[in-house]
Parts: sequence; C-alpha cells; structure tokens
Amino acid sequence: MHTLIGPFSQIIPLDNLAFKGPLTDENLRTIDKGGVLVKDGKIAATGPFEELYKSRPAGTEVQEIEEQSVLLPGFIDSHTHICFAGSRARDYSLRVAGKSYQEILKQGGGIHDTVGKTREASEEDLVQNIIRRVHRHIKEGVTTIEVKSGYGLNVEEELKMLRAIRKAGEQVSAELIPTCLAAHVKPKDFAEASDYLTYILEELLPKVKAEKLTERVDIFVEPEAFPVDASRPYLQKAKEMGFALTLHADQFTSGGSLLATEIGALSADHLESSTEQDVKALAHSNTVATVLPGASLGLGMQYSPARRLLDAGACLAIATDWNPGSAPMGDLLLQASLLGAAEKLSMTEVLAGLTFRAAAALALTNRGTLIKGALADMQSFPTHDFREILYFQGKLKARKVWKSGKLLQA
Ligand SMILES: [Zn+2]
Repeated sequence: MHTLIGPFSQIIPLDNLAFKGPLTDENLRTIDKGGVLVKDGKIAATGPFEELYKSRPAGTEVQEIEEQSVLLPGFIDSHTHICFAGSRARDYSLRVAGKSYQEILKQGGGIHDTVGKTREASEEDLVQNIIRRVHRHIKEGVTTIEVKSGYGLNVEEELKMLRAIRKAGEQVSAELIPTCLAAHVKPKDFAEASDYLTYILEELLPKVKAEKLTERVDIFVEPEAFPVDASRPYLQKAKEMGFALTLHADQFTSGGSLLATEIGALSADHLESSTEQDVKALAHSNTVATVLPGASLGLGMQYSPARRLLDAGACLAIATDWNPGSAPMGDLLLQASLLGAAEKLSMTEVLAGLTFRAAAALALTNRGTLIKGALADMQSFPTHDFREILYFQGKLKARKVWKSGKLLQA
C-alpha cells in the first residue's frame, strides 16, 4: 500500500551531493510544493505533489499537509553515550569555576563517577534512561542514533550496557546502532592500559560477538586513556574479529586520527586538536571526520576545524557526543547551527553532516536522503524556507517526524 504525503512548501532531498569535500548552497536541490510517495517504509518517489497525486497508484492513502512546511531527511546522530546513570552537574559547576580535571577527579568526579552510578543501575534502569533520551531526540527529528557502552569497564557491566541498548532499541521508533566502547578509559583495577585491552579482546569481545550485541568497536585514543601504540594492536585484532572500527581521536592531543586512517576506521570522532597533517590524512581517506560541537560547548574549548576538513576534501559528519561529563545538552540541531556559524559552513554542508554524511559514519547506505529506495525517515519544519531551520539556531524544531514512513509525532 502506498502513502502520498504532501504538499510541502519545500522538500530538500539532499540528493546528488558529493560525499566528500565542500558543498555550496547552489548545489542544493529544492522541490517546491513537493510530495513524497512511500511504500513499505521506503521512498517510492519524490517530486512535485500535483504530479505524484495525478499518477498515484490505486488505493494510495493521502496524508495531506495543510501548514507551511519544509521536509528534510531525519537526522542521524552518529556518536552518543546516552546509556548512563547519574548526573555530572557537580563536575560542571567545578569546571566552570576553574577547577582542573585533576582536581575534579580528586573530589570524586570525572568519568569514574559515571562508571560507579552506571554499575549500580540495573539493566532495566539503563533501558528506561536510554528510552527517555531517545524520545527527546525523536521529538527533535533524530531518527537514527548510535549509542555506545563504555561506563561498565568490565565484562559483566559492558554486557549489561550493550543488552540495555538492544532492549531499548526494541522499544523505540528510532533505530539505535550500538557500539562497544569498553576501551573508554582504563579501569582502576588494571595497572597497564595494554593489559586491560588484552582482557577486553579475550574476555569481552567474543561474548559480544556470540550474543550479536554490536558489530562496532570504539576506543578513546589519548595518552591519558589509551595511547596510540596500545590502541593499534587492539584495533587490529578487533578488525580481524570482524568488528567495524571507530575512534575517539585528537580530542586533546593529535595521534588518533592518523591511526584511524591507517587502520581503515569508519570514522574518527572529535578532532578538536587535529593538525594540518591529520586533516590531510582524513581528507585522503574514506574515514569520516565526525565533529562533536556539543563537547566543545560543554568543555568551553575550541571547535574542531570543520571548515579546514571540508576544504581539504574530507567527509564531515556532525554528532552530539551526548554524555553526562562533557556534552550533557544533546541538542543536535542547535549544536550544528552554532558550529556552522563559527566555522563558516554552508547550510548544505551542515545539513549533509547531519544526514547522509553521518549515515556514512555508520556504514548505512539506505538513509540520509529523500531519494527513491531510501528509508522514509523524514521530518518537517514549520516554515516555507529551509534556510530558517539553521537561521533560528535550533529554536525552530521539527513539527512532524516519520520513521520508515510511519508518522511518529504530529
Ligand atoms: Zn564520545
């Protein structure tokens, strides 16, 4: 059965745009008074509403859109840590008052605080926490959400987190993409980072595979977390086990993104401290450069060099890094708008980074545009001009959201 949705004042299909490098708004196709024909959760056609209406197959249901609205693909948040318990508001108050990371750690804050609270939480508590955060994301037009483990830091607790992500995914309309980030930070009971990585490889990842909990492995590459030399063999072995790779790279020091390109990772995420050499390596690779403006806002530090990455020829995705420590806000559109203003990104570059380029970071080829065959993951904004979406810097929110053609919110 077909459903015809429209007419929309404008449809932005985000089709025929390059996967890598700069994009100008002149490249952006808009369809005025457009419609979308949906069948079996996928887009069967996108075009002028009148034409689609006249040629609609017999029995087509028509979902009429009466208000002014602009239709975009649903957003894809390719980097989050929304499986956690507790809050780090106390850390934040200390940080903005000028206390150092070390001082905050000494006062019982930092990531180990979240690890403690997440370990204390039951699997069901975590499921409910994820669902609550996912519902907020759906309201804001995000229809695909990557979710990392990484606050368990031992076999049992990492499995609990990954099972919670899977269970939450069965109860929400957005699609959740799980990632094993057991290599988030070295737990206190291991003396050496490399010993802990060996433990994950031998004790955890085989169980993750057996239970089919995720096909993705992430690591936080930093001298303070996992240095490049310890990370390389870990990633190589995870790759041999069949996992796709993604890295927390270059947040405070350079090194991670070169390793990401060397090892053929799907994405290198953060990049606040990437050097010219890192930018070039990313541009010449198929590794998606994922920037996380929410972490820059939360930590009060510089944005990642999004403009330089695009100009060099990289594929740039934008994600929230939603997590309790450094990026508690989790508002993808607001963060992307602010990044765009600061880094001088065209609207097309920002929208691409939230849709089909973010899909590439997750190796998903079936979403992020409104072309025939793509999943009908869509959102409409109450305006007649797509430029108002970024112009209002996150205050103009999606009014309607569809996942696989199903209207979730009206
Ligand atoms: Zn992160």
